[in-house]
Amino acid sequence: MPQRNPFRRTRLRLTGYYTGIMGLILALCGVGYYQITEHQRLQALTQKIESSSGILHDSLGTVLLRPGRLNASVEGLLPGLCKTKGQCLEPDRFSRRHVLGLVKQEVYYAQLKDLSGQTVATLGPSADYIPNKTVLEGWQIFTNSDGERFLQYSLLLETVNHRNWGYLQVGRSLSELDQELGATRQFLLWGWPLAMLFISGAGWWLAGLSLKPVQNAYQDMQRFTANAAHELRTPLSAAKATAESVLEMDNISEGEARKTLGTINRQVNRLTQLVQDLLLLTLIDTQQDRKDAHKACQLGLIINDVMDEFLALAHNAGLSLTAELDTTQPLIVQGDEEQLFRMIANLVMNAIQYTPRDGDVVIRLDRDKKYALVEVRDTGIGIPAEQQAHVFTRFYRVNRDRNRKTGGSGLGLAITQAIALKHAGKITVQSQPSQGSTFRIYLPTPLTS
Ligand code: ADP
Repeated sequence: MPQRNPFRRTRLRLTGYYTGIMGLILALCGVGYYQITEHQRLQALTQKIESSSGILHDSLGTVLLRPGRLNASVEGLLPGLCKTKGQCLEPDRFSRRHVLGLVKQEVYYAQLKDLSGQTVATLGPSADYIPNKTVLEGWQIFTNSDGERFLQYSLLLETVNHRNWGYLQVGRSLSELDQELGATRQFLLWGWPLAMLFISGAGWWLAGLSLKPVQNAYQDMQRFTANAAHELRTPLSAAKATAESVLEMDNISEGEARKTLGTINRQVNRLTQLVQDLLLLTLIDTQQDRKDAHKACQLGLIINDVMDEFLALAHNAGLSLTAELDTTQPLIVQGDEEQLFRMIANLVMNAIQYTPRDGDVVIRLDRDKKYALVEVRDTGIGIPAEQQAHVFTRFYRVNRDRNRKTGGSGLGLAITQAIALKHAGKITVQSQPSQGSTFRIYLPTPLTS
């Protein structure tokens, strides 16, 4: 059965949220853009109509004589004027055309109405298409019987001696604007689903990208848990089997009991070591920074402590363990002394473990630019080139069977690397099978004395 991918649901959900939010933003932007465009265009038209109707109003105010009646001066002022029941005037005969610049355009019109609202004269072809009844003062947008929208401004006209004459209405068809807005609406309506399609695709890809590190961490954790369980089970099973075999015996001598307890004790020690290593790793991983544990540490002194700890072990293994320290200039790093000791001790312990009799293990401390260099080299069995990249992985062992005999769990180098990284340093390995290995740790040295 194929394994279910627990991240698929999360990826789908993230894609959904992303698409939803982007869709909403896009829709709001679309609606906003549409409304702003409509508002701006209408405002531009409004200003144009307002200024032209103002000019017309002022000009007519100087020539209108009797309320509701046209006179020759009015006709002179408005070339192309059509009296409701008469002929339209020939525009070319008239001067002062500038007043009518607006209504000369196809889409604009002007109407003169008497005080009862009856049309007295019209100007411009659009005037034929507007309904008879419209408001007599102020702004209005109305629709005619053909569904065409018009924007119109109406204002009261006065005669030269300030009597109310009637009304002037100036307006224009909004069909051009409506066509433009219709095209925008169509674009937004069709473009939005298309954009959503692209957005959901991009969302799926982005969600996959952002989940990748989490997925890797999750897989690492699963592998780590499985390895830890396996490593813990081995000594537990051995201790259990030893205890059960003794319990099945009727009689047991003191010697056998001691031997059995010794075996169980070894397994418990192994378990304890394993649990301590795991706890240390967790501590290094999770601990933000044990600032209180950080202090200036002299690496030379720590190496001396490591030498003291391992000299006897190396001697018993038939190895020479030496330290090459430059004592003229002590190298100091800021860090956790206990952890730094453990970091170097792990390397020395490995070097002793993986170096046959009569071999050499050397610890060297030196300065490398702004780093302190701690080098542990041995003349041991070495590590095959293809395995060198993996030796710092938790629970990784080059040769499982051989390491089982040495009691290694594969956490030593992982702990060393974690401590080096925690101290803003790095670790490298150089090795040749049957020739030996060299591990180098570089630690920044903010303090020198
Ligand atoms: P272990 O506890 O098994 O030693 P480590 O993490 O310390 O685990 O080391 C990982 C593996 O790297 C070991 O299993 C061993 O095979 C290899 N290794 C580490 N140090 C050396 C060395 N100095 N010489 C040869 N092999 C080494």
